[in-house]
Formats: sequence, structure tokens, C-alpha cells
Amino acid sequence: MRRLTERRQRLLAKLPPLEEVLRGSLIERAVRCGKASCRCAAGELHDSAYLSVTHRGGGTEQISVPRELLRNVRHGIAVYLQWWEILEQVSAINRDLLRHQRATRRGGSDGDGQGAVGHKRAKRRQ
Ligand SMILES: [Zn+2]
Repeated sequence: MRRLTERRQRLLAKLPPLEEVLRGSLIERAVRCGKASCRCAAGELHDSAYLSVTHRGGGTEQISVPRELLRNVRHGIAVYLQWWEILEQVSAINRDLLRHQRATRRGGSDGDGQGAVGHKRAKRRQ
């Protein structure tokens, strides 16, 4: 139990700054700009990048990302993924803690048939 709470603390300490979070996918493509005289017409394509964000309910938002902001955007997306990763891990630890607390509370006996939750609502059948 102590081991679990210590692991939880270590995970929380690894959380990156939430203010830098950015949801979405960075899409990078090589494109032609359309000018016949441009180097891309000869096959030397331009790098193009945009952040694609899918919204609940269906819409998708796309924001083009200039080269000098690519690093920020990659970082923001990484922060987002790290938060989710840690959220899931802490949640798994809390499930283990819940099982442990429940087992401790029952004292090894499940005679009352109620477990540790639902005290008020549980119907007594005995
Ligand atoms: Zn071009």
C-alpha cells in the first residue's frame, strides 16, 4: 500500500506543466505551391505542417504551423500524451488501493455481502 502511494507520488512529480498542453496531431506533408517558376515545380517540394484537432461531435480544426513553431507544437502534443499516460497510471494505482482498502475493511470476511461501497443503498437480503 505504501509502495503504491509512493509510486503515485513519483508519477505526479513527473507531470509536465499543464499550461503547455496541446491536443491534436501534427500532420507534415511535402507540397507544391502552384507557381510554375518555383523550385517545387521541378520536384523540390515545400514542407508543410498543420495541427489537426478533432472535436467532440465531429468537427475538425486545422491550423497551419510555420517551421519555427514546429518544436512548440510537438512539445505541446507530447505534454498532452504524458498527462493522459500518467492519468491512466495513477488511476490504475488508485484501483489497486481501492481493492486493498476494501479487503482491509472486510477483514478477510465477506459475510455481510455489502463490500465497502453502497452502504446506504445496499438491500439487506438476510
Ligand atoms: Zn513552390
